[in-house]
Amino acid sequence: MIKIFLSCLLLMFTSSCALMKSRGEISQQKNEEKEKLENKEAPEVDKQWKLTIEPQNITIKPGEATLLVVPGDFYQEGTLACLDKEIPFFLRDHHLVAFISETYFSEIKPYHCFYTLGEDQIKVAEVEVLPKRFPSERIYVDRKKVFLSKKDQDRVNKERKIRYKAYASSPDRPFFYGPFELPIRSKVTSIYGSKRVFNKKKQTQHLGTDYRAAVGVPIKAANRGKIVLSRDFFYTGNTIVIDHGLGIFTTYGHLSKRLVEEGEVVPAGAIIGKAGSTGRSTGPHLHWGVTVNGLAVEGDSLIEASLGMPR
Ligand SMILES: [Zn+2]
Repeated sequence: MIKIFLSCLLLMFTSSCALMKSRGEISQQKNEEKEKLENKEAPEVDKQWKLTIEPQNITIKPGEATLLVVPGDFYQEGTLACLDKEIPFFLRDHHLVAFISETYFSEIKPYHCFYTLGEDQIKVAEVEVLPKRFPSERIYVDRKKVFLSKKDQDRVNKERKIRYKAYASSPDRPFFYGPFELPIRSKVTSIYGSKRVFNKKKQTQHLGTDYRAAVGVPIKAANRGKIVLSRDFFYTGNTIVIDHGLGIFTTYGHLSKRLVEEGEVVPAGAIIGKAGSTGRSTGPHLHWGVTVNGLAVEGDSLIEASLGMPR
């Protein structure tokens, strides 16, 4: 945990570091929410509820999201937890559906997921985390964007708090219906997880995907969701963040134009902005970031996972 947090502090480029809440923090927050709910009213649940299922075998790699689909009549009042972290889920067509995620810094060790309803607890998944290697790249940008002045550092710190707050609350239900799609169809110029050496000195990890995009090229919302940030940030320039519900967020950085306002709900595929080269950027491109349950993952893995949702 401490390792993740320290790595987070080192991560200056993407917003992702601000998003990695500790498992402890999340479970404390969830517990408080749960208490509130329990004090309100007890859910009406069939006392005879009993489900006998074989746990799903799932494999996942650091930096990926994957789908957990468990057949059976579950109740939304129950809770799903992997390790000690509560995972949001939804019910569709007699299935429990959830997105599991691991980030660049995840430990390679297996774990289980349990569904709990009242006194009953069943194991729904056995998850194996497989190793993955990431490439390195060297990047040269304006010195002032690598070694920050006091004023810029203050701005970055302030922006980190704004991002952290925006990512802190996502409804437990999805805003989306269908699978996720790419925000732009173009050549990938930098993949998720590249180790980056800025101006031969500063090292970070790239926790998003960069797509080649000329200034002005339209950028689409990867799925239906609510705009939680539409602002100009020091590192990612003109940036839009969409909350898709269920703990899933997508980020669009370095835009030349933002075409949506905070608070707006946009349909899947809506044009939300235009590509550009604002913020710490080496040239016009789209930086696309994806966060699932507080962890930055590779966008392609979310797209692929979402194709498996029951229709
Ligand atoms: Zn990027």
